[in-house]
Amino acid sequence: VLTTTEFDTIAAISTPPGEGGISIVRISGEEALDVAKNVYRGKNLDKVASNTINYGHIVDPSTNQEVDEVMLSIMRAPHTYTKEDIIEINCHGGIVATNRILQLVLSNGARMAEPGEFTKRAFLNGRIDLSQSEAVMDLIEAKTDRSMKAAISQLDGNLSHLIKHLRKDILDVLAQVEVNIDYPEYDDVETMTSKLLREKATDVHKRIVQLLQTAKQGKILRDGLATSIIGRPNVGKSSLLNHLLHEDKAIVTDVPGTTRDVLEEYANVSGVPLKLIDTAGIRDTNDKVEKIGVDRSRKAINSADLVLLVLNASEPLTEEDRQLIDATNKKKRIVVLNKTDLPIKLNLSEIKRLTKAQNIISTSAIKADGLKGLEELISTMFFNEGIASSQNDVVVTNARHIGLLNQAKSALEDVLKGLDEGMPVDLVQIDMTRCWDFLGEITGDSYQDELIDQLFSQFCLGK
Ligand code: GDP
Ligand code: ZN
Repeated sequence: VLTTTEFDTIAAISTPPGEGGISIVRISGEEALDVAKNVYRGKNLDKVASNTINYGHIVDPSTNQEVDEVMLSIMRAPHTYTKEDIIEINCHGGIVATNRILQLVLSNGARMAEPGEFTKRAFLNGRIDLSQSEAVMDLIEAKTDRSMKAAISQLDGNLSHLIKHLRKDILDVLAQVEVNIDYPEYDDVETMTSKLLREKATDVHKRIVQLLQTAKQGKILRDGLATSIIGRPNVGKSSLLNHLLHEDKAIVTDVPGTTRDVLEEYANVSGVPLKLIDTAGIRDTNDKVEKIGVDRSRKAINSADLVLLVLNASEPLTEEDRQLIDATNKKKRIVVLNKTDLPIKLNLSEIKRLTKAQNIISTSAIKADGLKGLEELISTMFFNEGIASSQNDVVVTNARHIGLLNQAKSALEDVLKGLDEGMPVDLVQIDMTRCWDFLGEITGDSYQDELIDQLFSQFCLGK
């Protein structure tokens, strides 16, 4: 077990870069107090209580020059974020002053922290497990309230709890198998043990599959739903994009083909983060600038989780529109019939025939009609089970976790296959142990120690 004394003292600016009302320089480690005492003039830090905020000044000890007026928080180990002593210097927030304070702290006994190192210490010092550390990162990057809820749930340890449960179940069965192998006094031990392994493998497999089913939504919450808005020039793509972004970020013009740059923005659609890509639309063109947009547009269709195909309802369907429908027929797609404030010239029955009448919605970007419906449709297409209603349920969002869950799942499939083929249980047991190991990597639990402890506690009854 690692103890806090094995780590040096680290420091970093903990508030986002740039000008703000207040900036915080955070110091963590055994020497945190000593470092602070070197640069702080105010109360005697040895005497102030833990979890207090103390007025004072930061002073350059080499020149005795005052750098800033500050509030200094002191949090003593072990009840802190890192389980180490933590000092937080709340200063006035100018970049110059904040950097100056950090430099002073660094030249007075602390080392510059690496990215994520405070959280890493929280993990190494045993305050949180690996999946919780990862949740901290997700939380920082959360794009909508839904993404945030998923991260908070993981930080609360809901995923860890579930994984620990699965591992305990596996361990129990492994221990039982071990006992059976060592005490084969019963008749038919092999059959009994196989039955036990099969039941447990089937059960855990089912639970892992359920977890993996949340991963699709989890990925969307974490990375955003890659959405491309495509359509001929001038059908209203930029206008729709602006509405989805709730601000005017894309350029809207009357000249066809002016949306040349591919924009990438996040939009919060009923809590679903859409990663929106606006393109010039797919069309054959000799125009060089336009061509870049077109090529990207094809890519945008391929890489999209969702395509919003915009058609101009006030014009008859063109050959280009048909090509676009065809190019997106295999994608998750919403056909947006825009400009419905104008007289309708589109042949609706043809569109229904070409699109199998799926996910068609009418809008008027200019009158802001039908946009709520569009947002709701997007939300229900991807979250029809409704994440909001099952907030406490675990959603797997992390690619590493998904990878490990898949490995654990296939290890269980090996268990079942081995049993089907009549493999000896002590060999099947190896795959079961592999599954246990993969799951343990999610939470960062040590494999050997735990297995040995558990097995030992099981055996001491009999030996
Ligand atoms: P894009 O080239 O597909 O991005 O189209 P824009 O969003 O730039 O819109 C092209 C033109 O159509 C602009 O003049 C918009 O004001 C107009 N427009 C967009 N949506 C609507 C709509 O719903 N109704 C009407 N009447 N005009 C629209
Ligand atoms: Zn608008």
